[in-house]
Amino acid sequence: MDMFIDGAWTPGHGAPMEVRNPRDGSLVDDVPMGTPADADTAIRSAARAMEHWRQVPMADRVALQKKLAQAMRDNADRIGQLLHLELGRPHAACVGEIARSADLLDIYAEEGLRLSATMSLGSAPGERTVVTREPVGVVVAITPFNYPITLLMFKLGAALIAGCTVVAKPAEDTPLSTLALAELFHATGLPAGCFNVVTGTGRGIGAALVDHPVPRKVAFTGGTAAGRAIAAAATGTMKRLTLELGGHSPALVCADADLDQAAAAIARHGFANTGQFCYRVNRVYVEQAVYEDFLARLTPLVQKLTLAPAGGEGDLGPLVNARILANSIAQTEDARAKGARILTGGDKPLGAGFDAGHYWPPTLIADATEDMAVMQEETFGPVLGISPVADWRDGLAKSNASIYGLAAFAFTAGLAKGLAICEGLEAGSVWLNDIQRSSHYVPFGGMKQSGLGREKGHYGVESYLEYKTMYLSYEVPA
Ligand code: NAD
Repeated sequence: MDMFIDGAWTPGHGAPMEVRNPRDGSLVDDVPMGTPADADTAIRSAARAMEHWRQVPMADRVALQKKLAQAMRDNADRIGQLLHLELGRPHAACVGEIARSADLLDIYAEEGLRLSATMSLGSAPGERTVVTREPVGVVVAITPFNYPITLLMFKLGAALIAGCTVVAKPAEDTPLSTLALAELFHATGLPAGCFNVVTGTGRGIGAALVDHPVPRKVAFTGGTAAGRAIAAAATGTMKRLTLELGGHSPALVCADADLDQAAAAIARHGFANTGQFCYRVNRVYVEQAVYEDFLARLTPLVQKLTLAPAGGEGDLGPLVNARILANSIAQTEDARAKGARILTGGDKPLGAGFDAGHYWPPTLIADATEDMAVMQEETFGPVLGISPVADWRDGLAKSNASIYGLAAFAFTAGLAKGLAICEGLEAGSVWLNDIQRSSHYVPFGGMKQSGLGREKGHYGVESYLEYKTMYLSYEVPA
């Protein structure tokens, strides 16, 4: 596929970049390795389009955005199939991602209808002070591979409804679904230049987009290291930033918790998308009194999760690339060498359907200690560390001893204790006693080095608007 710029397929200046199926290494397609010249073309297109787009009445933008949402639902199977091929996740879950992401467009559209300006009542006669809001400008949206469409919609839906236009750069591994979506949106009526997609590497075209003087905002989801580099570069032109970065989310299981419910939630949420999930459970602290009991309940649930081989069905796909796989292997080996107990998983699956793919099985590491990488560093794979703690205060302290603060989870029957733990956890979102899907209506984002700003709901839209204060003077009629 070519890039999608100014409403048309556009060949880039760089060499082709292969997109391979992580289940068997087969070639799915290629995309251009975009250059700074391609970044400039896309940004100029977005800037031209914004001159008109910002003037389109809100009601018309809302109506169009709802049409885009419906087009996503109508095409979920086709775009989900592309996502399935480039990411390796089971097909139904890919289709589900497209359909659920469409809801974000609807929700942001409704938030657009609720936006209003204010007028200060403190002005003297003959003066009025109006505080209005304007779209921030052209937005650069840079996304990771793991939920490429959902994480793009976090940004695109808010930006478009606010009157901004967008240049998106998807991850190297998963550009195809985003490109297909850009063509679909244009065919559905989104004017040329409002949503452009360029392809290439982060350090190449990604950095060129961030450095470019025209965009006024960078909305980024990805790792903390890339986020730091982007924040530093964006400061050069004082761009606004929304950063959704890495996480290393703890779960704290108290002795009075419903252990079956905790085990089910952690088995589900620790391994979703094969662990390639920013706010998955990474590490579990269990009060000593129920530690072995909890392990005995969790282990069979994790053992039930199946890997989907190339051409076959199962709960979990492979990891997206060799780098992500290597991290899961390294964390498992580090824990093994330091004396942890591997309760299940821990060895590469072999045989037809697995040999050519980036597979790692769901791996439970018990008796993990704080010096092990699995308890300190983001895995982004199906590897979970578990450690006993003396009591919940010990567990809370260990939960917070991290540079990350994206999400945290607690399990206890005591409401007061649960509230104290939720209030004590340093994380942008906390869950008590179960782990539901994060809601599209409430803010999502990280504390500490997990990010800057919030997405979703009206919080998300507001970060694409800039305040403007207008002081108006007029002659009061005698
Ligand atoms: P990554 O940081 O390697 O890449 C993310 C995107 O940034 C890619 O498109 C990449 O090309 C681009 N990029 C990298 N360096 C760049 C630079 N210097 N300038 C401009 N662009 C650059 O992340 P990944 O491996 O694709 O995804 C995994 C990471 O994303 C994990 O750390 C995960 O926690 C994080 N993530 C966070 C959230 C969240 O909401 N907080 C959600 C999903 C994923």
